[in-house]
Amino acid sequence: MTDAAELRARTKELLAAHPPVGTDRLDFLRARFDAGLAWVHYPEGLGGLGAPRSLQAVVDAELAAEGAPDNDPRRIGIGLGMAAPTILQYGTDEQKRWLLRPLWTGEEVWCQLFSEPGAGSDLAALGTRAVREGEDWVVNGQKVWTSSAHLARWAILIARTDPDLPKHRGITYFVCDMTDPGVEVRPLRQITGEAEFNEVFLTDVRIPDSRRLGAIGDGWRVAQTTLNNERVAIGGTPIPREGGMIGKIAETWRERPDLRTHDLHQRLLGLWVEAEVARLTGVRLRQQLAAGQPGPEGAGMKLNFARLNQEISGLEVELLGEEGLLYDDWTMRRPELVDFTGRDAGYRYLRSKGNSIEGGTSEVLLNIVAERVLGLPAEPRTDKDVAWKDLAR
Ligand SMILES: Cc1cc2nc3c(=O)[nH]c(=O)nc-3n(C[C@H](O)[C@H](O)[C@H](O)COP(=O)(O)OP(=O)(O)OC[C@H]3O[C@@H](n4cnc5c(N)ncnc54)[C@H](O)[C@@H]3O)c2cc1C
Repeated sequence: MTDAAELRARTKELLAAHPPVGTDRLDFLRARFDAGLAWVHYPEGLGGLGAPRSLQAVVDAELAAEGAPDNDPRRIGIGLGMAAPTILQYGTDEQKRWLLRPLWTGEEVWCQLFSEPGAGSDLAALGTRAVREGEDWVVNGQKVWTSSAHLARWAILIARTDPDLPKHRGITYFVCDMTDPGVEVRPLRQITGEAEFNEVFLTDVRIPDSRRLGAIGDGWRVAQTTLNNERVAIGGTPIPREGGMIGKIAETWRERPDLRTHDLHQRLLGLWVEAEVARLTGVRLRQQLAAGQPGPEGAGMKLNFARLNQEISGLEVELLGEEGLLYDDWTMRRPELVDFTGRDAGYRYLRSKGNSIEGGTSEVLLNIVAERVLGLPAEPRTDKDVAWKDLAR
C-alpha cells in the first residue's frame, strides 16, 4: 500500500524531472498524470497509484509549495467530479485509457447532457432517442441547461433506447462528441446576465457503440453514479476554514465597521458556525468516500450547501445596503467557471439562486434523504411499471 512517505518521494522525483519553472504547463500536468500523482486513489496507469484518497492532500501540498501548475479544477468540474468517476466504474479499459488523461489535464472539457425541457426532476422521463444502426447509435432530441456545452469536447449523455420498457429501464448512457456536426449549442441567459449554460439540439448525431458506457438499457443505474458524484462535487468541495462565501462576508464585516449592527452580528455568527459545521461534515464525507463511490448521503451535503449559500449571500447584500444592489456587469458573458469569491456580492446573491436547482432541486434532494437515508415511506410512483411510450406527456 502506498503511504505518505512514498507519495512525497514520488512527488519530489516528478518535480526534479519536470521543474515547474521552465516546464510547459501541459507537459507538467501530463507527467504528473503519468506518475500516478493526479488522483492518487485511481488505479495505476490511469493517473493514480491505488492509494487512499485522503493522501491526495500530501501530493497537493508538496506541489503547491513548489509553485507547480494545477489543472484548474473549477473549470473542469463536470469532467473531474462527474464524468471521471462514471468512466472509472463503467468504462471499458480502452475507454478509461483514452478519455481520463485529457479529462484530468483539462485539455478536454466535459459537459452533461441529461436534463430536457420535459425531464428535469423526473429525469427518467427523458425523450431523446438513440436508435441502433449497425455499429452506431443515431441520436435525436433536445437537452437543456447544459453547463459548459459551448466549451466542451465531450458530453456524458443519457438517451432512450427502448421506449417499450418502463421509463427507468429503457435508457442507455453514452459519451457524445460535441464536435459532431449534428450537435447545435445555443446560449441560455441566466439571472446573472451570463450564459453559463445552453440548450443543445441533437440531430442525427452518430455515436459509435464503442462509446457506450455500461450495458444497453442500464443507463439509469450508470447515471446514479454520475448524480451521486455530482452532489458531492457541488456540495462537498474542500474549502479552508472561513473559505468560500462565509469568507467574503467575514472580510466585509472586518473591513467595514460602519455597516455593523447587533442583529447582523448575531446572524453572521450563526451562519459562520453553520458554515464551519458544513465544512467539517464535508471532510468526514470525503474520508468515507475513500472507500468507494458516494451514495445518497451526498444529497444532504448539497441541500445544506444550497441553503447556506443563499442565506449567507442574502445577509451580505443586506449588510452592504444600497452598495449590495450594485452589479458589476450585465453584458452576456460566456464564463468558463462559477466564481463565488472573485466577484461582487450581487453576483453571489444572484448565482446562488441556482444552487437549489442544479444537481437536483432541494425538494427532490429532501425526498432522497427522506427515503434513502432516513428510510421513510416512498412517494407514490404510479408510472414506474408503465412503458415509457404510454406515459402521459
Ligand atoms: C445553474 C444550473 C446548471 C445546470 N447544469 C446542468 C447541466 O450541466 N446538465 C444538465 O443536464 N442539467 C443541468 N441543470 C438542470 C438541473 O438539473 C434541473 O434544472 C433540475 O434537475 C430541475 O429540473 P427542472 O428545471 O426541469 O425543474 P422541474 O423538475 O420541472 O421542477 C419544477 C419544480 O417542481 C419541484 N418538484 C419536481 N418534482 C418534485 C417532487 N417529486 N417532489 C417535490 N417537488 C418536486 C422542483 O423542486 C421545482 O421546484 C442545471 C441547472 C441549473 C440551475
